[in-house]
Amino acid sequence: MRAIVIREAGGIEKLSSEEWPSPTVGTGQVRLRVRGCGVCYRDLLDREGKYPFMKRPVVTGHELAGEIVEVGPGVDGFAVGDRVAATHRPACGACARCQAGDEAACIGSPISYGLTVDGGYAEEALAWAASLVRVPENVPLDEACFLHCTAGVALRALRAHAQLSAGETVVITGASGGVGVHAMQVAKILGAKVVAVTSNASKQEALTALGADEVVLAGADGSFHKEVLRRTGGADVALELVGAPTFNASLRSLRPGGRLALVGNVTAARVDVNPGYLILREISVHGSSSASRADLTEVLGWAASGRLKPIVAARMKLDDARAAQSRLADKSVVGRIVLVP
Ligand SMILES: [Zn+2]
Ligand SMILES: [Zn+2]
Repeated sequence: MRAIVIREAGGIEKLSSEEWPSPTVGTGQVRLRVRGCGVCYRDLLDREGKYPFMKRPVVTGHELAGEIVEVGPGVDGFAVGDRVAATHRPACGACARCQAGDEAACIGSPISYGLTVDGGYAEEALAWAASLVRVPENVPLDEACFLHCTAGVALRALRAHAQLSAGETVVITGASGGVGVHAMQVAKILGAKVVAVTSNASKQEALTALGADEVVLAGADGSFHKEVLRRTGGADVALELVGAPTFNASLRSLRPGGRLALVGNVTAARVDVNPGYLILREISVHGSSSASRADLTEVLGWAASGRLKPIVAARMKLDDARAAQSRLADKSVVGRIVLVP
């Protein structure tokens, strides 16, 4: 089968289109005919070697959906022909976090698509049944593939971590990106008012069309908090999708007692934080890394009912993986680019 393989860390030229052995199913696994794989900013960091525990060579990509073509031993509840989407990784089911019912925070599973096992930039993929959910018939697989890492992750960050309530105001940085355009919709579904932050003036109109109540343009230094404070008096929640470059402006956009949920970090840079600011204003910061199968099922249900609209920036062929990642790095797109093998 064709697959996009990373053999060593580096630039875009390290994405290699190759013939790769078709996977063999083991216990608890299924073989998928991949029908879509989202191109995520994390893929760029994976390629650049920012994750020390990554195996190489590896088939990259972690946002996969497809049809089951083979079912391994010990798999209950799935059959050949089922349309499924995967979370980032199967939870172990045995660690303290899994036992407490929070599989998205699993600390026991070493399996992570596109990092420690092969991922979704391929015609076929091995998937653990414990990472899969069924995709409703009316949701296309090339849209379902990215809803875990976008809407699902935003849902868990906003609801479980930031405890966003209806009527509250949430600031979302990187709002035009793949996570941002879906996070805005999730925040609206949760009943919040959305202040979208973008660094690109040409994207303001698109963000308003996608449901932003306010759009604020970040300055060249990443700052935007004065404008957010002027318009809102201080947001209740900030959803930080960019990371280090906008972290302090997000903190300063919050009212006293506000909550920041940190989901994305596009650079490996450190952040200077003034502890006194957090103490005196009683601001809390929550890291949030993934989402559960239940979260994914919920956002797929919203997509099926039309409440949530998956935003596809472009559908591209597997062999266009370099061009797809270049477009993402240029920040020239609104929504998610999808590879359709
Ligand atoms: Zn992703
Ligand atoms: Zn676990």
